[in-house]
Amino acid sequence: MPPLTLWLVLPFLVLLAAATTSPTRATTVASSFHGQREFDYFAFALQWPGTYCKRTRSCCPTNGCCRGSNFPTVFTIHGLWPDYNDGTWPSCCSGSSFDPKEILTLTNSLEQYWPSLSCSKPSLCHGGKGTFWAHEWEKHGTCSYPVFRNEYDYFVAVLNLYFKYNVTSVLNDAGYVPSNTEKYPLGGIISAIENAFHASPQIVCSKDSVEELRLCFYKDFQPRDCALGSDIKINMVTSKKSCPKYVSLPEPVSVSKTGTMDFKVGAMMM
Ligand code: 5GP
Ligand code: 5GP
Repeated sequence: MPPLTLWLVLPFLVLLAAATTSPTRATTVASSFHGQREFDYFAFALQWPGTYCKRTRSCCPTNGCCRGSNFPTVFTIHGLWPDYNDGTWPSCCSGSSFDPKEILTLTNSLEQYWPSLSCSKPSLCHGGKGTFWAHEWEKHGTCSYPVFRNEYDYFVAVLNLYFKYNVTSVLNDAGYVPSNTEKYPLGGIISAIENAFHASPQIVCSKDSVEELRLCFYKDFQPRDCALGSDIKINMVTSKKSCPKYVSLPEPVSVSKTGTMDFKVGAMMM
């Protein structure tokens, strides 16, 4: 990690240490919130711009797929999702709406590492449409209580997890580099992540391209397998978006305002 980046993330790392070394946060508070049972674990969903942006048909100022040379060339954040062990999950857990002012100081980092890769405005829990961040906080973040009790803590922790578990560099180090011609064994990609983080991920594909890689964590942020014992979750996802035995990691390509691919970003892993 370059020194400048390190300085930028240091405060986040300190905050994550505080959040993750305090197991009482997850255990001492009542086990339901706004009528929903307390969740069991977190799924951390990361998206691959090389796959996601291939579907882009139009550009808008907020679409990370259309950023030219600032186009994301690493896995970016989709969301941190509280889940139940039975394969279901809570959503829209509190009456509070997203407030952009609460995370103003994080905006630069969020723009870079948690960009929306779409022009569509997702729906919000209390009606209307909003930003990708608003949707993720209201739908998933509000259900992370009592681990996180406010929007700011949630977004800081997500950034910290992202910096700590750098899946792009793990895959790169294992030889899984973006390519429009290579196919990689799915098992090899899973093993690379398992070797690095000692827990098995969940991979979601679009046709034969990796679209998302999900890491899972206990409530104290220790890594855990995404499928515990039974394969409930894996089956749930793969039944809709299964990955073949050999998958591709398409090279990220920025999209022009007309929706055509216009800017190929070279070998670019962190
Ligand atoms: P998809 O059907 O595209 O996999 O997921 C659509 C949406 O459902 C996701 O963006 C997310 O909000 C929610 N979702 C899918 N899988 C999971 C999961 O394993 N846990 C949680 N909490 N939400 C999920
Ligand atoms: P989820 O699938 O998390 O429930 O919902 C994601 C919502 O946010 C969808 O409505 C999707 O259109 C919108 N969205 C905006 N930007 C992005 C993005 O970068 N990735 C994904 N997966 N969805 C996005």
